[in-house]
Amino acid sequence: MHPDYIKRLVKNPSLRVIISKVLDGNRLTVDEGILLMKKIETGLLGMLAGHIAEAREIERKKKQVFPVIITKDCKYECPACQYFKQKDTLADKDNLLNELKEAAEVDEIVLSCGISDQITISFLVDLISAIKTQHPNQKVKGFQAIHIFELARKEAKEPAEVLKKFKEAGLDGLLGGDALIFREEMRNKMQDYELSKQQWLDLHQQAHEMGYSSEATMTYGHFESVEDRLRHLESIRDLQDKTNRFDGFIPLKFRADSGISKFIPSTSGLEDMRVFAVSRIFLDNFQDLDALTIIGDEGWQEVLRFGANRVTVTHPGSTKYLPQYGTFF
Ligand code: SF4
Repeated sequence: MHPDYIKRLVKNPSLRVIISKVLDGNRLTVDEGILLMKKIETGLLGMLAGHIAEAREIERKKKQVFPVIITKDCKYECPACQYFKQKDTLADKDNLLNELKEAAEVDEIVLSCGISDQITISFLVDLISAIKTQHPNQKVKGFQAIHIFELARKEAKEPAEVLKKFKEAGLDGLLGGDALIFREEMRNKMQDYELSKQQWLDLHQQAHEMGYSSEATMTYGHFESVEDRLRHLESIRDLQDKTNRFDGFIPLKFRADSGISKFIPSTSGLEDMRVFAVSRIFLDNFQDLDALTIIGDEGWQEVLRFGANRVTVTHPGSTKYLPQYGTFF
């Protein structure tokens, strides 16, 4: 679509300035991002996001992952998580390695677990190392910032020590679902544990400096404001400027099955498209924007027209899914 055609569609002078900035490849401020999210028609946002993807020659791709669930046991009660106060034992390492024989062709092996007192650093080091030995050429990813903090606290270590041990064992990347929304008042409603915005950002920066890649996410559709979303995106963009080690951005739609949060209605499909399009426009230093199947079979196909370029799917040989990505992952 020709940029001049898109510009002509906008009558409001201040919106026209913002759209010209986007089309000329300039970075938006938070206030400009807020105006985009609030004021511009959804179709036009889609055109802008599509234009950027085309101008930056962003390729559409599929990523196949194989989830490894170490345990669903979790002592916390986060309202949007399927591991909410589950009781479970630790999976057997040999059984996990056996299941992983199905994973020879996947792009990533993803390790997931609840926050369980049964888990120790040495158990995980042993498991990561065994998986990496069996799958030396595949990316092994796992654990969120909260896992690293909880393990460090439990075993009286610094989070950096835990990261270092996991890196030496063969872990390549961290998950990022616990980024949630960075405004503290909102975080406290969405999570049952304590993990501040600054702790999350510092831990990911430390991990990036050790050579890890990690996922950046934003959970939207709770009670956050449009400004909360843009401030969140700004913090993610700032860290990517410093390290360039986020390997993609994943907008996660909030859906709770328990607690008072289950009464929050889901965002509409239109709102989902706006979040994806603004993420593509605002995060000018990200290549991959992930459409997870959490937003439904039709939804993820639709967001490919609104700036998303990568679809993450679970290997058909696995019957498991990752709770932070939702039931349809
Ligand atoms: S989000 Fe993490 S800490 Fe919270 S219930 Fe789920 S697994 Fe446990």
